[in-house]
Amino acid sequence: MSTQPNVQSLHPTIGHWIDGAALTPAGARTSDVFNPAAGQVQAQLSLADAALVDAAVRSANAALPGWAGTSALRRARILSRFKELVEAHTDDLARLISREHGKTVSDARGEVIRGLEVVEFACGIPHLLKGEYSDNVGAGIDTYSLRQPLGVTAGITPFNFPVMVPMWMFPMALACGNTFVLKPSERDPSPSLLLAELLKQAGLPPGVFNVVNGDKEAVEALLDHTGVSAISFVGSTPIARMIHERGTAHGKRVQALGGAKNHMVVMPDADLDQCTEALVGAAYGSAGERCMATSVAVVVGDALADTLIGRIRERLKTLRMGPPDLADTEMGPLVTGQHRDRVKGYVDLGVQEGAVLVVDGRNAAELAKLKGFYLGACLFDRVQPGMRIYQEEIFGPVLCVVRVPTLQAAVNLINQHAFANGTSIFTRSGEVARKFSTEIQVGMVGVNVAIPVPIAFYSFGGWRSSLFGDHHIYGMEGVRFYTRMKCVTQRWPAPPEGEAAFVMPTMR
Ligand code: NAD
Repeated sequence: MSTQPNVQSLHPTIGHWIDGAALTPAGARTSDVFNPAAGQVQAQLSLADAALVDAAVRSANAALPGWAGTSALRRARILSRFKELVEAHTDDLARLISREHGKTVSDARGEVIRGLEVVEFACGIPHLLKGEYSDNVGAGIDTYSLRQPLGVTAGITPFNFPVMVPMWMFPMALACGNTFVLKPSERDPSPSLLLAELLKQAGLPPGVFNVVNGDKEAVEALLDHTGVSAISFVGSTPIARMIHERGTAHGKRVQALGGAKNHMVVMPDADLDQCTEALVGAAYGSAGERCMATSVAVVVGDALADTLIGRIRERLKTLRMGPPDLADTEMGPLVTGQHRDRVKGYVDLGVQEGAVLVVDGRNAAELAKLKGFYLGACLFDRVQPGMRIYQEEIFGPVLCVVRVPTLQAAVNLINQHAFANGTSIFTRSGEVARKFSTEIQVGMVGVNVAIPVPIAFYSFGGWRSSLFGDHHIYGMEGVRFYTRMKCVTQRWPAPPEGEAAFVMPTMR
């Protein structure tokens, strides 16, 4: 990444979106935005400094009274028009995602659709914000509760879902009457700017939604800014922990979702055809760069492990790795050369640690023809819990198989891992599935479902080092996160004048 002033570049410069308009300040620091499939720089990204972040927060603050005072129904109508515009531009967004991230266009389309589900949920905000009302709680006294917006809220998002993860946040924040400043990943910043343009077309007033592109400097400016009331973060665990500590130290409400190591338990009675396809898709789809990717298969019994590994190896022979814009490609490149090298480093490490590398994607035949940041699918067997390739998040096309003797051993193993985002079990036994779902200490659980990302009217979030804060994201948890509760006790008409009461008022 270059962080030089953008003196003169052959590449276009990607800017920001502040106060309802695109903005690219001259002389700002920049970083490279790559085309991962070509392995080349395709643009420069203007990196926001504290002054630019301040301008975005001021714009969001100025827009706040008008937006918070707009009826929930009107806010929902704007989101409903936005939904239609995103639907009409799904392919444009998918291509933008794919060009900067490297995931296949069809996968990127799926990402947009999953993000849209949150917009659909947010359109129900007039109902979701309804409070409680109790009539005549005392003589002539009524009590009701309401939820009010927090103010200027901010979102800081990772590279792996440049549309879906921002859409986990801002539709809920805006629906609840907050204004929003988004700081997208510097690896794939363009889709956010198209979302901003579509929000404008949908009728969102200037300043209600802003995008500041940038790196650590912009994030720190948001964390420290007194005008920001709440921060939603999704990214790696060390940064999530820092965001939570620093944001809460500044009195902000913070939800910070971190990294993952998702285990799939395979029981001897599982449907092996279903399980093999699910496992290969969940481990290698999006080149393993999903927070809900399956990165560990926990196989119960040695005989089953031998059979399953044989099946995965056969399936990987036909896995189509290649340019992400070709319709039949199943796996594209990794996001940057630096990340590809990091993942490769983990494969080297696994070999040194003594795991058995059954499929070595470092030597995949396609690599000779492909110019981008590609790495073939890798499969490790006999991975031990003490190994770093088991403990750490690799975030690439690397699947580790851990062999265990019993279901209980699988449950104990998973419950001891630092990460606890998602997990799944493949079995035909309801009894086994129920025991697993009850005893497993993980935020999201799948039964014969490999990637159990909850639908928009539930909420998404992990446990332990996969989430810092008290709220999961989107769904009713999103409404709770982005609002503050107020309770009003009222008496009409005012009581006759009397003497001041110095005892605690009761409603008797
Ligand atoms: P990242 O933590 O490197 O970056 C996330 C955001 O934090 C980016 O906007 C980035 O600019 C910012 N950032 C990075 N370093 C920073 C620093 N030192 N100080 C301040 N801000 C900083 O994550 P990534 O590589 O973009 O994304 C992959 C990670 O995100 C993986 O760990 C993955 O598991 C995680 N993730 C988690 C979920 C979830 O729901 N739990 C979802 C998607 C991704």
